[in-house]
Amino acid sequence: MKYVLVTGGVVSGLGKGVTASSIGVVLKACGMRVTSIKIDPYLNTDAGTMSPFEHGEVFVLDDGGEVDLDLGNYERFLDVTLTRDNNITTGKIYQSVLDKERRGDYLGKTVQVVPHITDAIKNWIESVSVIPVDGKEGPANVCVIELGGTVGDIESMPFLEALRQLSFSVGQDNFCLVHVSLIPVLGVVGEQKTKPTQHSVRELRALGLTPHLLACRSAQPLLENTKEKLSQFCHVPAGNILNIHDVPNIWHVPLLLRNQNAHIAILKQLNLFSIATPPDLQ
Ligand code: ADP
Repeated sequence: MKYVLVTGGVVSGLGKGVTASSIGVVLKACGMRVTSIKIDPYLNTDAGTMSPFEHGEVFVLDDGGEVDLDLGNYERFLDVTLTRDNNITTGKIYQSVLDKERRGDYLGKTVQVVPHITDAIKNWIESVSVIPVDGKEGPANVCVIELGGTVGDIESMPFLEALRQLSFSVGQDNFCLVHVSLIPVLGVVGEQKTKPTQHSVRELRALGLTPHLLACRSAQPLLENTKEKLSQFCHVPAGNILNIHDVPNIWHVPLLLRNQNAHIAILKQLNLFSIATPPDLQ
């Protein structure tokens, strides 16, 4: 299984869900079968009891799972049918570990965040990613994992550690990290600022994860010198710095990605380029 992990930096509500779904769309357009997992680092077991005023729409899946609205994006963008297990929350992970602890499955061991919670996260991801969601037989080629929240939050730390371990165990040809970040413009100076992104990439790298692509959210398209700065200071090739500026509707986002050859960069990172059929190369 090949994994594309989408993380977010600087602020929440950046469009990680839309970016992750759009990545799925461009990979699917290259002939890849795609599944997805959304991770929500909150203690609620699912979104069913959460206020829509605070949390937005609760999306109800075919199996009755009440989940984060991003799963609705995935189903609509990718034409897949997800299950409640495609939405991992801290609550679900802790519940499964505590149930095992009460059954005595840990055989007297001290149960800890590392390795027991992190192992539960890895096992969950590995077992759910191979379940077909597109009505065909056998596992998909690529699983897009979106980590909710912002890098640096205490809540997401066990997930980032589990994902670091996962990236190491599956190997670099099977793991692609896309970091979505904000490029603000300061009103007075009128300049696109890269520092918040530099800091969030540094935070990610301190946790042992280096982004292969940066998806930069900005009001206006990125200037060339902003891209150069980001490349130099964030350790990401300039060609892998994508710009997802504000668009009038989110269905433009897959086109933005395709126009910047995001699919090619991701397929190359995942060593899938030779078997994929990028639409613009046919
Ligand atoms: P996150 O997953 O980071 O919380 P979402 O994907 O839910 O963010 O997006 C947050 C909001 O931003 C949504 O209302 C979405 O429609 C909007 N949005 C995302 N990307 C763009 C974009 N490129 N242009 C305009 N609006 C966007």
